[in-house]
Amino acid sequence: MELIDIIQNSLKGLNIWSIVDILVVTYIFYKTYSIIKETRAMQLLKGVLLIILLIPLSDIFHLTMLNWILQRTITIGVLSMVIIFQPEIRRALERIGRSAFKEGHILQDKDTVDKILKEVITSVKNLAESKTGALIIIEQATGLEDIISTGTRVDAIVSAAVLENIFVVNTPLHDGATIIRNGRIVAAGCFLPLTSNNDINKKLGTRHRAGIGISENSDALVIIVSEETGNISLAINGRLTRNYTPKKLKDILMNIIINRYSKKITYWEKVKGWRKRQKEK
Ligand code: ATP
Ligand code: MG
Repeated sequence: MELIDIIQNSLKGLNIWSIVDILVVTYIFYKTYSIIKETRAMQLLKGVLLIILLIPLSDIFHLTMLNWILQRTITIGVLSMVIIFQPEIRRALERIGRSAFKEGHILQDKDTVDKILKEVITSVKNLAESKTGALIIIEQATGLEDIISTGTRVDAIVSAAVLENIFVVNTPLHDGATIIRNGRIVAAGCFLPLTSNNDINKKLGTRHRAGIGISENSDALVIIVSEETGNISLAINGRLTRNYTPKKLKDILMNIIINRYSKKITYWEKVKGWRKRQKEK
């Protein structure tokens, strides 16, 4: 068959759904690529692509043995990929789930956020000054129930005094992370997953690694105070930034939390405003 015929035949079968199909598949490939791009799975993906290309070539040139080996490699390879990259796959699926369903608790009101952050920041300032190690997590859209269940449940208003008290060395709750959900301290002494990222500064120990770990697996905001240096750090989306002053920390947290809500709120504000105007008429 001529090439032209092949193209014409394929075009004949094309309808609106095939275009949708192509677009969806392209989007999925693009998303998968952008998730994998930054991980160690990228090297492996290149290897797999090479093998996939070599299989038809070895067939064309009748390299039977090579073909046989490549076929087997790909079968075993896919299985081992699932096992080796279990954490990455889990994270990717969690990311997808996170954007589809919001199960966490997000504060909606600017004044409340401001009040809570003020308490958190005061405690962080004092903890840093006294070089008391601390790990404070603010839950956002990703529910952290599995993490909360590893610690001791508390139900307290967020106050600087309570937070400082939790982290006093040699008290039962000081070890591990404290979680803030929906404007309350809900748990302390929680155990977090450590990051498996090897590019992190070797000087940073398990507290920082745990903080980065939970930020890789969720959209939580993680504040870390170093016991060794009194340094204040923030981990978000697997990235750690260091050397915060209390004021800078407050500004950035306020910005992240409020901007996130404002996108949702503006729509309702508009509707409310519209209703109000209707009533006034
Ligand atoms: P620092 O700068 O404060 O010394 P670091 O990053 O060097 O921090 P470590 O000195 O190893 O870390 O800190 C140990 C403390 O970190 C533990 O006592 C515990 O409170 C906390 N920690 C360690 N691992 C975890 C974990 N998986 N989940 C929650 N907290 C953890
Ligand atoms: Mg240390």
